[in-house]
Amino acid sequence: MFGWLAARRRKKIIASAFPPEWEETLRQNVLFYPLLHDSERLRLREMIQIFIAEKKWEGCGGLLLTDEMRVTIAAMACRLILYLPHNYYENVETILVYPSELALPERKIGFFETVMEPVEPSGPISGQAFEQGPLILVWEAIEQGLRTPGSGYNVVYHEFAHKLDMQDGRTDGTPPLSGSEASDWISAFSREYSRLLSEVQKGKDTFLDEYGATDEVEFFAVATEHFFDQPRETKRHAPQLYRLLKQYYRQDPARQKTDGKGKT
Ligand SMILES: [Zn+2]
Repeated sequence: MFGWLAARRRKKIIASAFPPEWEETLRQNVLFYPLLHDSERLRLREMIQIFIAEKKWEGCGGLLLTDEMRVTIAAMACRLILYLPHNYYENVETILVYPSELALPERKIGFFETVMEPVEPSGPISGQAFEQGPLILVWEAIEQGLRTPGSGYNVVYHEFAHKLDMQDGRTDGTPPLSGSEASDWISAFSREYSRLLSEVQKGKDTFLDEYGATDEVEFFAVATEHFFDQPRETKRHAPQLYRLLKQYYRQDPARQKTDGKGKT
């Protein structure tokens, strides 16, 4: 529970200067960062400091976890909750980062562990969010997203969207919403999901990644990737979906001005 002690600790964290190398990473890796207003950048930087300090980070499979990786992941995770009432993903305690998909071993369930239901299917994966347990990310997959911005592929947005979905204790593709928001969401999301599913079944090219047709849970995570990574296209191809995500995240990324590089 968030109390005065945590508040004091957080105040201390953000009182320390934001390291210039972290700022450099944001400028290099995080394309939306320069597009934010000054006040938003300040807020994001403070959130990154707290997020990095409060999570347990572990490089796995021989990966040497660097500040560049931590800052990049933190920036994208915190972008999702920039305007949401939040407590820094309190349902994420540990973040495990693997170098590549192939290096990810089968996870063995230990004697004292409870069985954790992974969200993603088994097989080579680029990330995984558990209802209880660590959040797994693959750095190679994150880099792929960094290399192809605007493609709608971003494993960090994807996995942290799952964690938002799980906040109400149910992994069902619907994050916690108020009454009228919820009914609106369910009708539009079911319509959009059915549309994607039927197009995928007919073998058509779809705007939303066909992985979103797996089920409602994946649909929300995939929609979030498109919403933040290619907002204008999402608004054009799926206006209803865009409107609801805008309402939920309390952000309108399609309106962000480009910085001259033509990239949002
Ligand atoms: Zn997923």
